[in-house]
Amino acid sequence: MRLVTFENSGNSTLGARKGDKIVDLSGVAPDMRSFLEGGEDSLASARSAVEAAPQTVEAGSAKIQAPIQNPEKIICIGLNYADHAEESGMPIPEEPIIFSKYPSTIIGPGEQIRVPASSEKTDYEVELVVVIGKGGRDITEADALNHVAGYTVGHDVSARDYQLEKPGGQWMLGKTFDTFAPIGPDIVTSDEVDDPHALGIRCILNGETVQDSTTAQLIFKVPQLIAYLSHVFTFTSGDLIFTGTPPGVGMARDPQLWLKPGDTVVCEIDGLGRLENPCV
Ligand code: ZN
Repeated sequence: MRLVTFENSGNSTLGARKGDKIVDLSGVAPDMRSFLEGGEDSLASARSAVEAAPQTVEAGSAKIQAPIQNPEKIICIGLNYADHAEESGMPIPEEPIIFSKYPSTIIGPGEQIRVPASSEKTDYEVELVVVIGKGGRDITEADALNHVAGYTVGHDVSARDYQLEKPGGQWMLGKTFDTFAPIGPDIVTSDEVDDPHALGIRCILNGETVQDSTTAQLIFKVPQLIAYLSHVFTFTSGDLIFTGTPPGVGMARDPQLWLKPGDTVVCEIDGLGRLENPCV
């Protein structure tokens, strides 16, 4: 299933795509997070609803929002593509590098990325995002994919000056400006993603392809990440894991390339979708 959140009479509404229609799933759950908390029961109800499709809207005219707006946690992985670590002048990590974003960073397709006036080095990063279904802690690698509800496209917008040039030497401020986590448009359920480690992934800035890779290049794969992280904290339904970005970021270019008002950024992953956002 391709799950979405869309605006319906001014309300954020859960839905699923069916051809060029969106089936209203507000009868199944009030929002994506409660839907995911419902696990297999939610999925079964959604499948019946999509089959019967009593209430639909035209997908073309629907305003698609961020698929989930209130995750408890947004965990991000740094330098998880070997060639991106190289271009950043950093060693290939032997253990995952972890930081986080906040729900206040989330925006949906078409919404504006606000490039901070105080940053001269705002960068783009396309990423595969894992959406946690069933929560838990101390999850084993063997069991990890049973905890994945699905996948979406994410954009880890990064103000490099705040990320790398502030006292303390940690990345948080550069990653947490409002609007710095566009996600969507769809959450594609994991039964429809044969292999999350074999997906073409691209970022296109103002029509020019600036990142073009495959998730086969991930250093730490999805099961390793879930096992590693759940040793530390409990995963909750709806938690998001941004799995890292491939090479081609603006920081590593010569000359360097930074986002500015008027730009349009497209992040896309084969089979998952295309996420477009203007910069202001
Ligand atoms: Zn990133």
